[in-house]
Amino acid sequence: MTATLGRRVGVLRFCDACGGQPLRPFAELGEIPVFCGVHWASRDEALASPLGTMSLAYCPDCGYVRNIAFDPNALVYDATMDTNLHHSPAFQSFSTKLVHHLAARYPLRGATVLDIGCGQGEFLRELCHVAGARGIGYDQMYAGPTGPDPSGAEFHCAAAPLDDDAPPFDFVTSRHWFEHLADPYGFLVRLRELAGDRPVRGYLEVPDAAYDLATAGWEVIYPHVSYFDGYSLCRIAQRAGWQVVATGPLFSGMFRYVEISCNLPDQDILTTLPGLSDRDRQLDSIAGFAGRHAAERERWRSVIDRALAADDRPVLWGAGSRGVQFLHLADPDNRLAAVVDVNPRKWDRYLPVTGHRVTSPESLATLGTRTVISTNPAYRNEIGAALRALGVEAELLVA
Ligand SMILES: [Zn+2]
Repeated sequence: MTATLGRRVGVLRFCDACGGQPLRPFAELGEIPVFCGVHWASRDEALASPLGTMSLAYCPDCGYVRNIAFDPNALVYDATMDTNLHHSPAFQSFSTKLVHHLAARYPLRGATVLDIGCGQGEFLRELCHVAGARGIGYDQMYAGPTGPDPSGAEFHCAAAPLDDDAPPFDFVTSRHWFEHLADPYGFLVRLRELAGDRPVRGYLEVPDAAYDLATAGWEVIYPHVSYFDGYSLCRIAQRAGWQVVATGPLFSGMFRYVEISCNLPDQDILTTLPGLSDRDRQLDSIAGFAGRHAAERERWRSVIDRALAADDRPVLWGAGSRGVQFLHLADPDNRLAAVVDVNPRKWDRYLPVTGHRVTSPESLATLGTRTVISTNPAYRNEIGAALRALGVEAELLVA
């Protein structure tokens, strides 16, 4: 890993979202795991996996936040990565509701939906099935069969080709991918160029930085280059030539969506867009973030200390990217008794940098734990119900 911090000295990066001002550094989080979506076959490989520098900077005009030390060459996406959220019933039900919402709201029957960063295709398949649309999904992490499938969608294990051969589309969707891009503005500009003078609509969904930067920041992870709240997300879409039709928080406030369009009438706009008071709230969160992040890291180390001192066997539930970041910051020396996850693809595999082994939730039945930590408030009920079903009497703490 190269020392990426050195490269930005003397180089100002102007805000990607509004283009207004050079970004100002506000939090140095040091070295963090680069591949937080990779689950390694051996502990040695996991321990040797790379670190990258997280150096956050913000725009005083719009509240956009970016890791200005991000090195695009450090991170290559492929089908060995698994950032799939669909193993969780809470996420599945959220995604299904979204599919029905979009199918009811937009004229998708017979339309072509381009899904950029389609993951394993669950969302696009369901959208095509429910809306009667044709879908084209692209993702370098897509590991299923490629080509057309019975839902009306076809899948490619590749980055979306946004060159002149890109397929024409009526609706573009991208969920939890936009924040990974080194050039998010260029991406939206290119999509707008591809839309040309046709009426095109779109749906983008990202982690909501209004949540991430107002809390401990477990989702401040290396693959996330950009951190958007509602205000900066609308700004970047508008600056790239899109009309913002609607925006709002989703999934217990942890996600944020924006619906965009072009070549469609103004009266399509359905919601009040975020304003300066939203931006100011985000600037306050940014101002307090470095201190809050450091304090939360220490607090959770103390929680684990106290549990161990009381002969407890504390565990972490959830080995996704938030979990990986939590372990790196709060349990680097592997004091937790277990890390469990509902995704069977992660079982008996090892997490990057810290080397924690992931096991199934069933492994808790005989462990004797009294403390279960989750980094995700949206899964509180789901984890509580699973613990009861396993007969595990433990306190559930949400970090
Ligand atoms: Zn800005």
